[in-house]
Amino acid sequence: PPPFAYHGRFAPSPTGALHFGSLVAALASYCDARAHQGYWHVRIDDLDTPRVVPGAAETILRQLEACALEWDGPVTYQSHHRDAYRDAFETLRQNGRLYPCGCTRKDLADAPRAIDGSRRYPGTCRNGLAPQRTPRAWRYRTTETLSFCDRIQGRVTENLPEDLGDFIVWRADGVAAYQLAVVVDDAQIGVTHVVRGADLLGSTCRQIALARALDLPVPQYAHVPVALAANGQKLSKQNLAPPLPYDDPRTLAAALVAALTFLRQNPPKALCNASPKTIVAWAVAHWTPAAIPAVTTLPVAGTTAAS
Ligand code: GLU
Repeated sequence: PPPFAYHGRFAPSPTGALHFGSLVAALASYCDARAHQGYWHVRIDDLDTPRVVPGAAETILRQLEACALEWDGPVTYQSHHRDAYRDAFETLRQNGRLYPCGCTRKDLADAPRAIDGSRRYPGTCRNGLAPQRTPRAWRYRTTETLSFCDRIQGRVTENLPEDLGDFIVWRADGVAAYQLAVVVDDAQIGVTHVVRGADLLGSTCRQIALARALDLPVPQYAHVPVALAANGQKLSKQNLAPPLPYDDPRTLAAALVAALTFLRQNPPKALCNASPKTIVAWAVAHWTPAAIPAVTTLPVAGTTAAS
């Protein structure tokens, strides 16, 4: 990877076109990289093939271009990196950090919820596969309490065994879990700074745990608030979540200015009539991460409820 002091990335999953929420994450990541004279990489997180929508990756790239969010170097695809994930998995396994788990989703239906809303693994197969079970997935044996200082959210501390439990790094369908793939890729690309939506704040300690277990560098993190409708509900297709166009600069300009307003960057009103290129250049020149509220969700003024 190029020797940049700042190496950022935007890593969309190609499950659909960019909408207001993903534009906020893309714009924040871009502005932070460029304001630091950094490198900005785009990676398509297309490992979870059942969720991949054909054509969505191309659409996202055209939308980024139309928003004047220009990336450096070639776009990379997680689906091309399966060997690297397999190697990392083997390293963890050989170092005794993983164990096979035979539990099905049904077996875990009564387990308590973890802080991210998923089922906290009760440890059924931790000391050997439970009787009558065949290995399905591989879990990371959590032991540690981890803490990091998020540039926007402040200090985050998680007791992994208690808050999350042993988590899957290799899925039953033979695919690397997101938590492992993202750690391997960010290190391989040379990412120094991760700027992304706060929906991933609860994944960060797991990613730090895996990076340490693999002896990989840990990037700095900044998690921007996730956009909600004005009444606090999730954005829906009815309000600001319709896909953004890639052939309509006026609509994109309005969305970019709205995204800057959402991030409390205080864009001047007249910017609404400017081109995406001018708006993005203004945003980089005036980038003020300290103005971004330290909350994980934030309503977008003027939106209506999800139906
Ligand atoms: N592909 C992930 C997502 O769209 C984001 C990965 C990341 O930023 O770490 O949710």
